[in-house]
Amino acid sequence: MSVSIETKCLHLEEKIENAEDECKSLHYGAVSFPIFQTATYAHPAVGQSSGFDYSRLQNPTRAQVEKVVAQLEGGIDALALSSGMAAISLLFEIFKPGDHLVVDSDLYGGSIRLFDHVTAKNGVEFTRANCSKDDVESLIKPNTKAVYIETPTNPMMNVTDIEALAEITRRHGILLIVDNTFLSPYFQNPLKLGADVVIHSGTKYLAGHNDTLAGFIVTNRTDIQEKLRFLIKTTGAGLAPFDCWLVLRGIKTLAVRMEAAQKNAVKIVEWLQNQKTVTKVIYPGLKEHPGYEIMKKQSRGFGAMVTFNVTDEELAKKILGSVHLIQYAESLGGVETLITYPTTQTHADVPEELRLKNGITPSTLRLSVGIENVDDLIADLEQAIN
Ligand SMILES: *Cc1c(COP(=O)(O)O)cnc(C)c1O
Repeated sequence: MSVSIETKCLHLEEKIENAEDECKSLHYGAVSFPIFQTATYAHPAVGQSSGFDYSRLQNPTRAQVEKVVAQLEGGIDALALSSGMAAISLLFEIFKPGDHLVVDSDLYGGSIRLFDHVTAKNGVEFTRANCSKDDVESLIKPNTKAVYIETPTNPMMNVTDIEALAEITRRHGILLIVDNTFLSPYFQNPLKLGADVVIHSGTKYLAGHNDTLAGFIVTNRTDIQEKLRFLIKTTGAGLAPFDCWLVLRGIKTLAVRMEAAQKNAVKIVEWLQNQKTVTKVIYPGLKEHPGYEIMKKQSRGFGAMVTFNVTDEELAKKILGSVHLIQYAESLGGVETLITYPTTQTHADVPEELRLKNGITPSTLRLSVGIENVDDLIADLEQAIN
């Protein structure tokens, strides 16, 4: 039986198929998946194992959240890591000195910092491109191993056509890696569009409550899966059982949270567009957004991230200091609405020249719209902006 994505947030398909057996055998029928707070597992005899040996390698609660995320993205496997950055770092261990990657220039600031200061030191070379409009194929060299993108990007909301890019990467026999944090698997499934690997900061929409860090790597390729399973066992940044449980609980409401947040975002975008001191509103759900048609084709929604510019830096700083209900904080994807200042927060370590080239100015603000009553959010913005 194949079920819809809302149902997949709550049930594993394999469990639905074996419903009766599962009920009888598993965990006394507990509806909430148990937290297996154990570091190790006893063996009945030499050569026998319950399937679990040591929690760095596998833990039942982690296995459960991994199955749920793999199912949501349509992957054969997902790995749960201690943060989004831990996931990206682990994934980059599959590359060797001398390898070359094409990476989008407008990425989460932490990813840019990782590539520039950690991965580069390991002899991996990068070319930056605006993958939403540059000719990526012309940047592929004999030693190119992958293209790494976010779509829509953070914070400028550039949209890349995943299917078109996957056609190029497949033809060249290289990987397409998509950080799908901004839309979550509820709105977009890059593997189904031809990507090989999907990254999530599970800290954001998947967990959804600003209460835990988590990261995921999802793939539909057995060769990548094998490498990653070896790496997680060897490097040890697997997600702890309690945090796995928090993510499992968060995912149960992913569908309703995404719908509610998006609905609020659309109303806030409309309101922002009518403010005299707001000079630009960037939201891929606007028809004039250059990525609108691609988003309509490849995603089920436009998300709840909104970037906007105000007249000047002074006003931007005043807004950050005057919001009450909306909190001035880094991060996104939680039930609470957050406002971020990319220049000094998420993108502080991105060289100023690159930041400005990407369009991130000192008067750029980013909203992660939550699920509060939208009129309350607008009232808060109104008193802060005007
Ligand atoms: C937050 C974020 C990350 C990093 O995830 P952490 O869980 O904070 O380590 C990576 N990519 C994107 C798009 C993010 O928003």
